[in-house]
Amino acid sequence: AEDQLRQAQKMEAVGHLTGGVAHDFNNLLMIILGNLDVAERSLKSLDLDRAGRGIERARSGARRGAALTQRLLAFSRRQPREPQPVDPNTLITDLSDLIRQSATTRVSVEFALVKQPWLVLADPNQLEIALLNLVVNARDAMPKGGSLTIETAKITRGSQSVSASLQPASSEFVQITVRDSGTGMSREVAARAIEPFFTTKEAGKGTGLGLYQVLDFAMQAGGHVTIDSELGVGTAVTIHLPRFASAGASGVAPHRSIEPSPV
Ligand code: ADP
Repeated sequence: AEDQLRQAQKMEAVGHLTGGVAHDFNNLLMIILGNLDVAERSLKSLDLDRAGRGIERARSGARRGAALTQRLLAFSRRQPREPQPVDPNTLITDLSDLIRQSATTRVSVEFALVKQPWLVLADPNQLEIALLNLVVNARDAMPKGGSLTIETAKITRGSQSVSASLQPASSEFVQITVRDSGTGMSREVAARAIEPFFTTKEAGKGTGLGLYQVLDFAMQAGGHVTIDSELGVGTAVTIHLPRFASAGASGVAPHRSIEPSPV
């Protein structure tokens, strides 16, 4: 069922993507063709200045088209994931300098990391990229400064549910939250924020792919993403990842558990 949901979300994403991009692309082609017409007519009447401007505008349209396809390519050319047991606290601590640099001087950065963290099974590079995406969003939401907090937590959920007792591993989740005291989102924006190519940022500043990539990463790792946002108060985006524990392990998984188990 989860696979089906994932597939459905992908199809929906592709639908939005092709619709929106085809429209943008068509507009650019119109601009290019129109300006080439202008250039051709101007050449015939020997208005070389005007012809030059037409060609220049056509060229700029073509460049924008190229940038658009670059974005599309980057989107479809996913890097292969190499999941491995990761301690989120260590990863965040290793990333803390970069996180501080990503924030501006008017943003104070804090870390609230759970003691004795659980491991998660994820590609550490992808997790870093996901976190940096969230940090950049938080920074962008605080142009006048504010506070940015990175939190980790351990959650055991649904102990009364039947399926939880059948699948004990998936009832334990690690939560990684990036919280800001920024602008927050309206209901409308929050509802659409994760959609690919949805952005409220001015052209060139946002791709609208940040949160979608975060969700894609989380789902590949068997988790999900939640957004908690209030206009004028701030936003918390949480990545929920299933705990990685070797068979039979109860506390922190020993390093031995990294060895592949015989299938
Ligand atoms: P991008 O950052 O390129 O716009 P995202 O998918 O990361 O793409 O975000 C989509 C939109 O969601 C943003 O344009 C913004 O409107 C909203 N958003 C995301 N994160 C935050 C945040 N921390 N605070 C306020 N709005 C946010």
